[in-house]
Amino acid sequence: MNTNKVNEIREYLINKNCELIAVTKTHPIETLFEAYNIGLRKFGENKAQEMARKYQELPKDIEWHMIGHMQSNKVKYIAPFVSLIHSVDSFSILDEINKQALKFDRVINCLIQIHIAEEETKFGLNKEEAEDLITRIKSEKLENVQICGLMGMASNTSDQNQVREEFKKLRLLFDQFKSQDQNFSILSMGMSSDYKIGVEEGSTLVRIGSLLFGDRYYPIA
Ligand SMILES: *Cc1c(COP(=O)(O)O)cnc(C)c1O
Repeated sequence: MNTNKVNEIREYLINKNCELIAVTKTHPIETLFEAYNIGLRKFGENKAQEMARKYQELPKDIEWHMIGHMQSNKVKYIAPFVSLIHSVDSFSILDEINKQALKFDRVINCLIQIHIAEEETKFGLNKEEAEDLITRIKSEKLENVQICGLMGMASNTSDQNQVREEFKKLRLLFDQFKSQDQNFSILSMGMSSDYKIGVEEGSTLVRIGSLLFGDRYYPIA
């Protein structure tokens, strides 16, 4: 783990109303302990079972953030403890999160993932789909989930202006929903390569992995 980078990012975020999520996906437990020991408490994972395994082995004052695409049959693994699910992109997944949350007598906070990048491979909804989803959520009155905001990933490009335009688009949509819903407070945008642009454009959560832990992720069997 790059402790200097952690400190640099922490310093950068002071007074910016934005918090750091350390994206620990694919990294071994020892790395997460190192991160914990220098005070990091928000960890991001993208696979439900891997997150559940790590949750069991680590101290219980960690906030676990699900940032990867969710499958319905995996929600049960994280429902007892997950802090925020960033990647809701359909009514059906939200319905399943609601059902699992009810079993554990919890309200699970969620973000809607918006597709802002050029690439077609990234998950997420467009503006119209997100509006339709929010309308449906309101009419169905799901009691054990709470939509708190939006998440998005910018294009994987060195063109900083393009990244900024994509984040601006997400911010605009966030402000639109926020004006109609007082629970909207979280805008999750910015990763290793573009977190400063994310913060400049109004991000409240940056999700940073490779900058802190290096690129060479290895899979856990
Ligand atoms: C892996 C991942 C990140 C972190 O990416 P880095 O470029 O390593 O900082 C952030 N958000 C999501 C959704 C991810 O899957």
